[in-house]
Formats: sequence, structure tokens, C-alpha cells
Amino acid sequence: MFNKEVKKVSLVGVGPGDESLLTLKALECIQNADVLVYDNLINPTVLNKARLDAKLIYAGKISGNHYLTQDKINETIAKYATSGEYVVRLKGGDPYIFGRGGEEAEYLIERCIDFEIVHGVSSFYAGLGYAGIPITFRGEATSFHVFTGHRKKGEPLDLDFKNIAKSDGSLVFLMGISNLPLIVNGLLSNGMDPHIGAAVVENGTRYNQRVFRGELCSIEEIAKKENVVSPALIVVGDVCKKDLSFFNKSKLPLSGKNILLTATRSLAEKMAKRFKETGANICEMSLIAIKEIEIEREKLLSEINDSTHILFTSSNGVNIFFEQIKRYGIDIRSLYNKKICVIGSGSGEALNKYGVNADFIPSKFDSKSFLDEILLKLDKDSKVLMLRAKIGSDVLPKGLKSAGISFSDIPVYDTIIDHRKKFELNKDIENFDYVVAASASGAKALVEMIEDKKMLSGKVVSIGPVTTKALVELGIENIITAKRYDVEGIIDAIKKL
Ligand code: SAH
Repeated sequence: MFNKEVKKVSLVGVGPGDESLLTLKALECIQNADVLVYDNLINPTVLNKARLDAKLIYAGKISGNHYLTQDKINETIAKYATSGEYVVRLKGGDPYIFGRGGEEAEYLIERCIDFEIVHGVSSFYAGLGYAGIPITFRGEATSFHVFTGHRKKGEPLDLDFKNIAKSDGSLVFLMGISNLPLIVNGLLSNGMDPHIGAAVVENGTRYNQRVFRGELCSIEEIAKKENVVSPALIVVGDVCKKDLSFFNKSKLPLSGKNILLTATRSLAEKMAKRFKETGANICEMSLIAIKEIEIEREKLLSEINDSTHILFTSSNGVNIFFEQIKRYGIDIRSLYNKKICVIGSGSGEALNKYGVNADFIPSKFDSKSFLDEILLKLDKDSKVLMLRAKIGSDVLPKGLKSAGISFSDIPVYDTIIDHRKKFELNKDIENFDYVVAASASGAKALVEMIEDKKMLSGKVVSIGPVTTKALVELGIENIITAKRYDVEGIIDAIKKL
């Protein structure tokens, strides 16, 4: 059991980029954090695992462009930890490998603040591995040496090239891309073989990973020509002549596409699974969240008993209802004579999880089709119980009313905008090829938080006409709308572009 009384600060490595390289322990820390302090290289999907009420604090740290200074980062961590909050400091790769994690730990020790180190997968070997370069190989490299290629402004590169050039192991330089000429020159002028293998790996383990191979004498020119930028690894050694590539190899329909999912966490996670099968790179950044509205037990029971039909317009409604009746100890057999009707495949699947098959799903997954088609199944003896969002569309209640069908419209959840994501959204928006909006409330959150609406033009993929209408009203142009109103429809719409 996780004990916040014992844990104050965790310095957590989240790996080089591919979020599936996160360790189980890192995930546990993130899920329990009160405060997350994170660096520039952190994959935003990792932040999506945080609690809805956790504070997200960006510490920055792009070389030469510090958002918070190291002193300020240390102070921030200590401040929250001493006020009794559980602070998780997220760092790229491993916290003790060139990440200044040591300094942060020292600062905490001096202030008697309990902390732990949660090691992460480091870029220096995983970035190479994903590039098809094994850091050691029998007969090629019996050791490896990892250096920082960074120097403080105006200071010389503090590396002992005389000895380094003599080494017969693989040499890996981190933070070195801007100093590549100095590194190459340092090695060559100390007698290293100009034809030894060399490579640079940019954005290792990420969807946009680029790998360039050459020799020590040519790598500088290659990196310059290809405009290699940070974060990148430089590796020197004959292991670079091996090509054990496996990553990003298969060409799937959406390979190379970078797609942002903005839906609620559960929907984004579900969509991400399916999207990944198409080869797309997915970033989960939920801009909205679901807040359950509790209905009193007796009220819920009497509404169920009075109804002939129960209608769900989303999987959220399904999940919340079934979790509530479970909590209240209401027997599932109280639904035995009810017709259960859902708006689409997503809500249908959610229902299946509770061992219930939908009695009715419309042929098209929108409120208008739901209304038109369900009306054919209802008569004056029907009593409809709608369990849905607090701010739902008025298509269903209006339509039922004018058809003379009696109904109860019970809100079981509210949709709230996750304003914490505003910074992340605007920081990364230009990198995405497409932004998926999966509901009208999601569309509202997206437009409310984006600083420059023009950035969304031609990029937003909407799940259906209701969401598209909301986007148009909010001033977004060139929207791509799915023909089938679910994740398959969204994928199809993108494939056709
Ligand atoms: N603690 C980190 C390293 C921090 S120093 C780790 O263990 O990986 C930052 C440097 O790491 C970058 O300048 C770059 O050289 C390297 N780096 C981090 N992530 C990388 C990635 N995905 N691809 C290539 N290099 C990466």
C-alpha cells in the first residue's frame, strides 16, 4: 500500500521518450503525486496519468533556456514537500545520469526531507538500441564510456581526449550536439582512427527518431547537413556499423503521423490502443475530465423501478451508473425487465463489460438518429430513464417531450475542463499533425485553452457533426469530420487525407 506519510519526494526517471518504457514504480509515483515537477523532455502522455487534482509544474530545461533555474526547482520541490505534499520530480531517462538529480537529492538531504530515487531507462543505451546500435557487442566493444558533451557558457569542453581517444570501447556523448565539432576534433587530433564508426541519434525511442551513421571523420558533416538537433546522442565506435534496427520499421497506414487525443482519460486511453495499431504516434492529453454526480440510493432505486427503458448517451454514463449501483449494493437483477439503450459502439462496449448486452443501438451514433430510431420502439406506456451528462444536448428531451413520452433526465456526471493542460497544449501544438476532438465539451475545452486558434485550422478531426458544429461556432476552420462517429470513423477520416 502506498504511504504518503512515509514518502515525501520521489526523484523519478521516466525514460527517454517512449512512454511504454516507464517503470511500474514510476507509474505508481505519478498516479499518487500531489505535485509533479517535470522537465522539457517528458512525454505529456506520462502526465496524463496524474490525479486530476495534482499540481503540474513545468521546470523547463532546454539547454541554455531554463524555465526555472536549478535553485528555483530545488526550492519548489522542498516547499511543497515541507508543506506535507507528496512531490514527484520527473526527469528524462535516469535521474542520476546527467540530470542534476544528485544535486536535487543533496538539497533535500540538507533539509532533512525524505526522498527516494526511482531509476529510469537511460537514453544513452536505449536511444542507441532503438537506433539499432547495441552499446556493447562481443568482439566490437568490451566496454562503454558515457560523457557529457556540454560545457558551461564560455568554458572549454572538460574532456580528457588524450585518454578517451585510446579507449577501445563505445563512446557515447550526451548533450553534445552543439559541440560535435569539438568532440570530433578532440578525438581525431589525439590519434583516433578517422574511419571508426560513428552515429548520431536524434529523439531516440520517439516516433520522430532519426539516426545517421558514418565514420568519425564524416559524422560532423552528416549531422550538419541533416540539421540534427537536441536531444541527440553521439556515439563513436565500431558498434555503429551494426544495424540491428527494429523500431519504426513496419509501414502501417498512419506511421509517422503524430496525433493528439484530447478526450477524457478513459476514452483517450481506449482510442490510443486502437490508434497505435495503425502505426500512429499518440499523445494522450485529456483536456476534459468527468466528475461523478452522486444520486441518492433511494432516488436511484425508485427511478430504476419506475422505468421501462434506460438510455445512455456515453460510456461515461454507463460506467458511472454501474459503479454507483455496485457501491449501493443494488442487485443487477433489478434491471432484468428494462430495455437498455445506448447511443453507440463505445457505450455498447462499456455495457458489455458489466455483462449486459444493449437492447438497442441506433444505426448512426448521434442524438438525432438515437431519438428518431428509439421513438419507433416507445409508446405511451414507456417510461424512459436517461442517465447522462449535466450539460447534455437537448435533442433527446425535446424529442421525447414532443412525442408525449414520459421520461426522467438524470445527470450522473459533469464534464470539467482540465485547465492544467493549457501550458502543455500550447507548447506542443505545432508538433501535431492532427488533434482529435471527441465531444462538444472536448471541443470547447480545446478552443478555450488554445492561444492561437489558427494553429488548429485543418488539424482538428471531429468525431461527428455535433462536435463539428460546436467547433464551427467556436471559430475553428477546415474541420475534418468522421463519417462513422467513433474511433474507427476517426481513423478512416485521417487515412483518407
Ligand atoms: N538523464 C537523462 C540524460 C539527461 S541529459 C538520461 O538518462 O537519458 C540530456 C541529454 O540526454 C540530451 O541532451 C541528449 O543527449 C540525451 N537524451 C535524452 N533523451 C534523448 C532521446 N530521446 N534521444 C536522444 N538523446 C537523448
